[in-house]
Amino acid sequence: MNRPIIATIHTDAFRHNLGRIRELAPESKIWSVVKAKAYGHTLGAVLQGLESTDGFALLDIADAQWLRDHAWGGRILLLEGLFSEQELELAVKLKCDLVIHSQKQLEWLESFQNRSNQQINVFLKLNSGMNRLGFKPEQYRAAFHRLHAAGYRLHHMTHFANADQVERSPSVGEQMECFEKVTTGLDAPCSLANSAAILWHRNALGDWVRPGILLYGVSPTGVHADIVRSDFHPVMQLRSEIIDIQELKKGDHVGYGGRYQAPEDMLIGVIACGYADGYPRHAGDGTPVWVEAADAQGGGVICPIVGQVSMDMLTIDLRGAPNAKIGSIVELWGSEVPVDDVAQMSGTIGYELICALAQRVPVVIK
Ligand SMILES: *Cc1c(COP(=O)(O)O)cnc(C)c1O
Repeated sequence: MNRPIIATIHTDAFRHNLGRIRELAPESKIWSVVKAKAYGHTLGAVLQGLESTDGFALLDIADAQWLRDHAWGGRILLLEGLFSEQELELAVKLKCDLVIHSQKQLEWLESFQNRSNQQINVFLKLNSGMNRLGFKPEQYRAAFHRLHAAGYRLHHMTHFANADQVERSPSVGEQMECFEKVTTGLDAPCSLANSAAILWHRNALGDWVRPGILLYGVSPTGVHADIVRSDFHPVMQLRSEIIDIQELKKGDHVGYGGRYQAPEDMLIGVIACGYADGYPRHAGDGTPVWVEAADAQGGGVICPIVGQVSMDMLTIDLRGAPNAKIGSIVELWGSEVPVDDVAQMSGTIGYELICALAQRVPVVIK
């Protein structure tokens, strides 16, 4: 038998979450953001669950090629545009839309001999305060006019730094004010909102929204409670099994460094999942793991991690799970344990954990 760890991708949850985005942004088209291999969920899965999206947004032109090779005929947006001038030919051949965020990219587009007769869609990115990518407000209008003159079909785009519910600078309001001032009179569709803005800044959606994390049913803030009432379903479920059970005597230590010491005689479950699978090594004692059919009535139980996560294994406290046995199924994250809860116990956010699912974990698309 194989090692029992497995990641299941629930495509019905993809369909549900995309439907929820449509309800929240009914006037907008949707770029489903599938960078980083669809946040660890695989591009194969999005073609099965998100096929009714208006387009896929990603970074790597090889992934655009993969989608075309697998019969995706809809729109594709290269979110960081071109990394070299040589990519332009292929991007056009693959009918990609391009984000343009720098002077260099602008020059590549100007000198490109478009022999295809095909209109190329450009999403011109304004740096409205995040100060990562994009044209500065004072450069933006000139860039817009130059690309327009070169025959490209233009769209406006910007990205928010703080679209969650906490007031920090730059706020969505400040960035929107900048965006509106700079784009006044330059008639073109626009793309503004990421997941957090779709939930909490409904006045800043734009003609194209760009949800990533919500499609995967994970919280944009890193706090699961923030999305509970919005009814998004987790798409990735990471499961494994208890492969051994240890009897500890009071005072015994568990694992590397002996971080956990048994306060009484107790049973410990050893699970086939470790940091080489993408589970965070920083998960503290108390991080929840769900064990199937483990309580006295045969229901599932949340058992806390005890001891340091190691490369291939982690250990849980079975005191609340009298029916747990070798072979019991456990969920590391999914519908019973929100990935954001695991992330919070590990000093990070759900985004990082789903993206970091390791290659060695088999993925099943359901
Ligand atoms: C990753 C990304 C998104 C999606 O962000 P989420 O927080 O996952 O919704 C949207 N726009 C751009 C430019 C991005 O890079």
